[in-house]
Amino acid sequence: MDRAIQLAGLSQPELISFLETLGEPAYRGRQLFAALQHRRLRSFDEMTDLPKELRARLDDVAKASTLKIESQYVSNDGTRRYLMKTHDGLPVETVFIPEERRDTICFSSQSGCPLQCTFCLTAQLGLLRSLTAGEIVEQIVIALNDAYGIGVKPPRGTNLVAMGAGEPLLNLDSLLEALRVMADPNGVHIVPNRVTVSTAGVVPRILDLAKTADRPHLAISLAAATDELRNVLMPINKRWPLEELLSACKVFEKSLKPGERLTFEYVMLDGVNDSDEQARQLANLLNRHAIRAKVNLIPHNAAEPLPYQPSPAETVERFKNILESKGIHTYVRRPRGRDIFAACGQLAARQGALSGTPSIGATN
Ligand code: SAH
Repeated sequence: MDRAIQLAGLSQPELISFLETLGEPAYRGRQLFAALQHRRLRSFDEMTDLPKELRARLDDVAKASTLKIESQYVSNDGTRRYLMKTHDGLPVETVFIPEERRDTICFSSQSGCPLQCTFCLTAQLGLLRSLTAGEIVEQIVIALNDAYGIGVKPPRGTNLVAMGAGEPLLNLDSLLEALRVMADPNGVHIVPNRVTVSTAGVVPRILDLAKTADRPHLAISLAAATDELRNVLMPINKRWPLEELLSACKVFEKSLKPGERLTFEYVMLDGVNDSDEQARQLANLLNRHAIRAKVNLIPHNAAEPLPYQPSPAETVERFKNILESKGIHTYVRRPRGRDIFAACGQLAARQGALSGTPSIGATN
């Protein structure tokens, strides 16, 4: 496998050049791209429009698919979580979240995560490795095929969020490559404008992203409005403290399109970061930097052995009201898929022993 080329992460022009090295004309490259990305086929066998000899040759030198589905879980709210394995046996998790008017696929950018946010279960895995562009694209292909059938056009719009395991801005090149592949109208056709990337605050990469043409939207995980508390909850803050982070956001603001806002995510931890005083601190921090932004409050998703509990709904509401009274656009995120460990911060390759609908079992 290691020397076989992973085709799911190649753009159409890249696939055409790859097939040219095998002596094939350009139209074969276009056929192969459509088979992988539009028809969402994951084995050469199924690509019956390609000559048998070509399929056999491709089988020798390349891979149409590298992720294997280990198990999948369906929540009582319709959310689906997939636990997959890479060719080298590492866990990758993806969550499909159906909503009334659109679906959202939450994908992982890394297996595990190197950051040590104390409220997030993924942190406990440590970093296993960054995912390739192909592994990122394949997560979306697998989720769409499972939700709607192989190659079936999604009946509603699909949004993507890089909010699964990992820190996307520590794997920015592969992430952007994957987004370029998926934006192609001859393929999956999900454009960067439907994608939101969430970061714990990797300042230099925020500045890079600001300069990227056709970039996705950006969300920043804050969790605290003072360095003192943020150092504890998100140790990355010691490297890039709030002032630096907010200054980078101010630069990023210049790249916002009309109507676009930066998002700040704030996980609400009972008795830790949810007081009235802390709401005022957050509002003051954001107002001082005057950034065109909104705040998403995320009630903490508890999980053994994390030492936190979610803030009660009334506290979240009060926090929201304080922010709004100071002119901050604020939304409360409804947790999805908690019962199957699919909610924010719960992705740590858990298997079995879940309270939701049991595993459907491997499908490949
Ligand atoms: N590393 C990136 C991508 C992860 S996104 C980042 O930090 O932004 C996951 C989002 O869920 C982040 O906003 C994170 O702060 C939040 N989160 C993590 N653990 C959580 C938990 N247990 N409950 C609720 N939200 C959590």
